[in-house]
Amino acid sequence: MSLKARDKKHLWHPLTQHKLHPETIAITKAKGCILYDEDGNKYIDAIASWYTCMYGHCNEYITSRVATQMQQLDQVVFSGFTHEPAIKLSEALIKILPDNQNKIFFSDNGSTSIEIGIKMALQFHFNKGEKRNTLIAFEDGFHGDTFGAMSVSGLSVYNGPFEDFFLEVKRIPTPNGENNEAILNTLNSIAETNKVAGFVYEPLVQGAAAMKMYDSEGLNTILGFCKKHNIVTVADEVMTGFGKTGKYFASDYIDIKPDIMCLSKALTGGLVPMALTTCSEDIYKAFYSDDIKKGLFHGHTYSANPLACTAALASIELLQSETIQQNIKTIIASHKAFNIYIKTHPKVKSTRQTGVIFALDLNIEMKRYGNLRDKLFKFFLDHGVFLRPLGNTIYIQAPYTITKEQLQKIYQVIEDALDIV
Ligand SMILES: *Cc1c(COP(=O)(O)O)cnc(C)c1O
Repeated sequence: MSLKARDKKHLWHPLTQHKLHPETIAITKAKGCILYDEDGNKYIDAIASWYTCMYGHCNEYITSRVATQMQQLDQVVFSGFTHEPAIKLSEALIKILPDNQNKIFFSDNGSTSIEIGIKMALQFHFNKGEKRNTLIAFEDGFHGDTFGAMSVSGLSVYNGPFEDFFLEVKRIPTPNGENNEAILNTLNSIAETNKVAGFVYEPLVQGAAAMKMYDSEGLNTILGFCKKHNIVTVADEVMTGFGKTGKYFASDYIDIKPDIMCLSKALTGGLVPMALTTCSEDIYKAFYSDDIKKGLFHGHTYSANPLACTAALASIELLQSETIQQNIKTIIASHKAFNIYIKTHPKVKSTRQTGVIFALDLNIEMKRYGNLRDKLFKFFLDHGVFLRPLGNTIYIQAPYTITKEQLQKIYQVIEDALDIV
């Protein structure tokens, strides 16, 4: 029996209504930018498996380092113990994180890194004797699928059953260069009638909102407001981190730095799950006390798993390498050229790009998981490219190691797809 037939017996997939979408594709191997399925088909992974495998699948630099680490230390409790992979990773991270970041807290997925960011923000005020219970977030933000993360996500596509259990969140629109005044007015009225603890945001690019990009100066204005009102700022760089925007972090484009940052996805180059919540010394200081209750009593079994730390360290070394930095520049230039070529196509409504993230909107309305979207998805796969349209948005976020020819093939298949819509 095929893998995809056996899959149906016991497996329940994420974000899937199995009755409407019974088909899965069994992947048997991945190397570089290519996925191989059990029927012998090949697909270019044009979204780096949800933006994780940015140095290519099964990258030998990363896998060999992890293989060596496996012989040395596999797993140990990180409460009371420490180890070299975590220490080395912290030292490497501090060098590339925004200057104000100074402490690193481990977990194992993006949503959880947000939960921790939210808990840090709430407890920061609590420890100072202030009860602040409200969070601010953007309308179309996405921060994950655990309760705190769902609460701050404006884009809660099918979160109906849980909405009554969410945290207290007030929403503001993303800045577009013209609505700064209006946003400031909204913020003022929110701050007047609520006790605001924190602001959670995806800097510059909102991934799940279909790679929506917004004004960095407007964001800086919002962060300025937060600073003035002692509102803890939590940058969700789970997607934008580690070079996606052309700099190490999206926050590097913005003058005012976040108090807290959440990182995952490309952190380990897609090899193993891990996430981080980093913070400034000011945040950490509010927890450092003779009073045990003021500590952050949050922890996960696999916190700072040595293999994950090793994968992350190797990934950061790759990110800093001349080769990858050059690749990033090449991809940015390549997308720019494609953008000029495709944006005047009659089926294209608009295009946008930040770093290696490129997106185009079709000028037809489509449901996020509707039939036309499914047709496009299938068209891409049938032509050897794994792209995952979000509604009427087609976006590319390929590994940094993608070749010129592979990029051309992605562009070509997108152009061809415009004919079928
Ligand atoms: C993917 C993502 C998350 C959630 O991360 P998981 O590892 O899927 O829990 C949170 N925020 C952003 C911006 C993301 O892209």
